[in-house]
Amino acid sequence: MGVFLGCIADDFTGATDLAGLLARSGVKVSLRMGIPKENPENSRTSAIEVIALKCRTSPVGEAVDETLGALAWLRQAGAQRFFWKYCSTFDSTAKGNIGPVAEALMAALETDQTIYCPAFPENGRSIYMGNLFVGELPLAESPMKDHPLTPMRDSNLMRLLAPQVAKPVGLVNHLTVAKGADAIREKISDMQTSGISHLVVDAVANVDLYSIAEACMDMKLLTGGSAIAMPLPALFQKQGLLAVAGENEPWPELADTSIVLSGSCSAMTREQVHRYLKQAAGYKLDPLHLAKHGMDAAREWLLLQPAESKKMIYATAEPAEVGKAQEALGIERAGKLVEDALADLAVLARNMGVRRFVIAGGETSGAVTKALGIDSLRVGPEIAPGVPWNLSQSAGETIAITLKSGNFGTGDFFETALRKLKPDA
Ligand code: ADP
Repeated sequence: MGVFLGCIADDFTGATDLAGLLARSGVKVSLRMGIPKENPENSRTSAIEVIALKCRTSPVGEAVDETLGALAWLRQAGAQRFFWKYCSTFDSTAKGNIGPVAEALMAALETDQTIYCPAFPENGRSIYMGNLFVGELPLAESPMKDHPLTPMRDSNLMRLLAPQVAKPVGLVNHLTVAKGADAIREKISDMQTSGISHLVVDAVANVDLYSIAEACMDMKLLTGGSAIAMPLPALFQKQGLLAVAGENEPWPELADTSIVLSGSCSAMTREQVHRYLKQAAGYKLDPLHLAKHGMDAAREWLLLQPAESKKMIYATAEPAEVGKAQEALGIERAGKLVEDALADLAVLARNMGVRRFVIAGGETSGAVTKALGIDSLRVGPEIAPGVPWNLSQSAGETIAITLKSGNFGTGDFFETALRKLKPDA
């Protein structure tokens, strides 16, 4: 069977999160960084394809063009159902991209209804009466209200979505969702008769996601966070639309040579770095030192480490230290110095024979995968919710790589990740 489900994500780590949850089903999932350059016919495709874009905060026209390009590739690959993935906190502005992209995809797919369900109950995102909650707080009272790029000052998804779309917005509320898939289907059909195209759907628990997915699985386009897509593979399998697992190739034998590269300064990553330093050799990158002396010292340190040893190179630092570097160098330059250094060291590590890479940080992941020349990943076993191991090719070598965004995983993430790749794990 060829490609069936084609997904487009508006950012990089969001795409990994989605791919990881979809791969829980055992169905083969491929993740592509950007719209693939080669035609699908010349590419080894999987039953589920996820294309990672970086268009969350791009101008609307650019985001629409890019997503339509991704859609065209997925259709050419044979996909018949489509999923538009955005953040579970609906990150966007009144001029944002979630609605316009959905409308453009709907027009291209000639469909007149879709749902909006960013809920992710396992991670504390729920929707009740159209209002999005982060834990116990309404979105607009959560830390998202101060986000530097997409401050969320309203919690009501209908009000957030309406200015972004031309057609009417409506709500399938929890009173309906709690009654199950048939009730949801009936409500959606009534709304179709009334010309309502954009349906915000309440979900407060995983059971709601299953009812919604069952009711909506025949829609050509679904939109939401990663969690609403999670039940889809099993539902498609039941209908014989997706091959049952078994299509998966075995995980190849890889040399037990690893490195952790961390450019994330998020609280969880700081704890993870602190813990891993107790068992691994570590080298700390300092942007001020990098600016003055370059990265010879870091390269020399890495060259002295045996390929088989546990090692970590990190720029991870406490906020005060990050602030100091940013003050001296500017935020952008400090970040770029670190990203460039980690990217360069990843290439050196690969050339030294390292085959297992643990990368911490969203931007850092982008820089490292780019330097390693990775444009597609085969999604493998999940390490933590939303963080899978992936297989890829770099300079003709097969490598395993995991990309962890700042606050994902628990304190022992690095050890756990590397343990999970042992044959007896
Ligand atoms: P996260 O997923 O935690 O947000 P990112 O990699 O996306 O992590 O972002 C972290 C940013 O901080 C990167 O641009 C990185 O280069 C930068 N950075 C990392 N360490 C430092 C440091 N010590 N000083 C200044 N900037 C840093």
